[in-house]
Amino acid sequence: MAFRIYNTMSRSKEELRPIDGKTVRMYTCGPTVYNYAHIGNFRAYMFEDLLRRYVRFSGFGVVQVQNLTDVDDKTIKASIAQGVPLKTYTQTYVDAFFEDLAKLGIEPAEHYPAATDYVPEMIALIETLFEKGYAYQSEDGSVYYSIDKFAGYGMLARLDREGMQAGARVAQDEYGKDNAADFALWKAYVPEDGDVWWDSPWGRGRPGWHIECSAMSMKLLGESFDIHTGGVDNIFPHHEDEIAQSEAATGKPYSKYWMHCGYLVVDGRKMSKSLGNFHTLREILDMGYTGREVRYELLSSHYRQSLNFAFKSLDANRAALKRLDEFHAALREAAADGTVAGELPAWAAETRARFTEAMDDDMNISGALAAVFDTVHAGNKAMADHPLGGGEALAVLGLWNDLDRVLGFLVPREEAVPAEVRELVAARSLARANKDWAESDRIRDRLAELGWGVKDTPEGPKPRKL
Ligand code: AMP
Ligand code: ZN
Repeated sequence: MAFRIYNTMSRSKEELRPIDGKTVRMYTCGPTVYNYAHIGNFRAYMFEDLLRRYVRFSGFGVVQVQNLTDVDDKTIKASIAQGVPLKTYTQTYVDAFFEDLAKLGIEPAEHYPAATDYVPEMIALIETLFEKGYAYQSEDGSVYYSIDKFAGYGMLARLDREGMQAGARVAQDEYGKDNAADFALWKAYVPEDGDVWWDSPWGRGRPGWHIECSAMSMKLLGESFDIHTGGVDNIFPHHEDEIAQSEAATGKPYSKYWMHCGYLVVDGRKMSKSLGNFHTLREILDMGYTGREVRYELLSSHYRQSLNFAFKSLDANRAALKRLDEFHAALREAAADGTVAGELPAWAAETRARFTEAMDDDMNISGALAAVFDTVHAGNKAMADHPLGGGEALAVLGLWNDLDRVLGFLVPREEAVPAEVRELVAARSLARANKDWAESDRIRDRLAELGWGVKDTPEGPKPRKL
């Protein structure tokens, strides 16, 4: 079987075949770093994490680019309100974003370009669009893209272009654009922008949002690449506009596949900053939930379905994860007297094939999780009847580690250990090697004050949260 994904462009499932046959180059629209991301945003980043992990599991390489939008109306307004330079303001939220990704076990992308570092590339792209007749400057100095010039406009979102233009004519004068649906490539400087501006052939200003993604994706992945992702709200206008800009400039196909996830909703409405119905990851962790529980929640529904967020579902995940951890602990125990992995027991022999078959079908996570939990169920039953041999247990642990490369919540993760704790644990080992028991006890007490203990295991001392 091959990995088939739903391509929004064709509205059908297609086999994933990277352009170069080996490495999937994917671009992911990233956060606007004006505030903490909410878990609706993380639903999109989690879907993209599952995708990159499964692409690798399928035997392809991955180069993923996720941009950071660090200049727009919101970032500028907030930095001016706080009286700090734009970069200083956005850095706080860039750092927070990376911390949150780590808490959720999201694998890092290969590149995180910030828009403000790619303005020359954006200007060059706009110049090409001018040369090719797709761009024009309006009276206020801003530069727009003329959607009438691009025959393919509306293909991704399946827009009714006739209808669009009839409606557009009404608002034309108001905008100083040839067509009200034309979008800004370059925004002329206005006093509200403070000291945020760049010089360009069209005067001072800053790039529009859509051009940022076209310029950064093509710079880092090439003019044609494999997958472009985002939430369904990105389809129009953002992704439609990216296609128009990029393909008009290069004359080549831009992204081969387009993948979009459904919304995280609260009581039937999209979780969003503007509706105020959002939770940041920090809030949820402060309530005592773990990143792993949130990860499980965000992954356990199919990415194209909308997912209703409710705390009672997070509570239910605790039970599911506990079940997984108990199963894992039983395997570890059984594996203690094994040396090399043997054959998989009959109850785990089909697991991988079932998991893969489900995931190959546009990441059918329900089928994949059914394969996992059926194995846990059958394994627990079998182990209650007969102890599992060490070799068999090692084989199941190997399988579990393998599936966890995709899921990232199957195997209990060591809690992130602070540097001070790691150093104290190392100092304790040294003290014990020197038979300095008083020092060893002193370190143990200090660790306890920090909320940590140490467990001596065959692989050496391991820090444990108390
Ligand atoms: P934004 O900061 O609004 O540009 O959103 C960043 C990413 O999060 C985009 O890919 C959006 O599609 C996605 N996103 C925003 N809100 C939600 C939501 N409630 N559910 C799923 N994805 C979302
Ligand atoms: Zn984008």
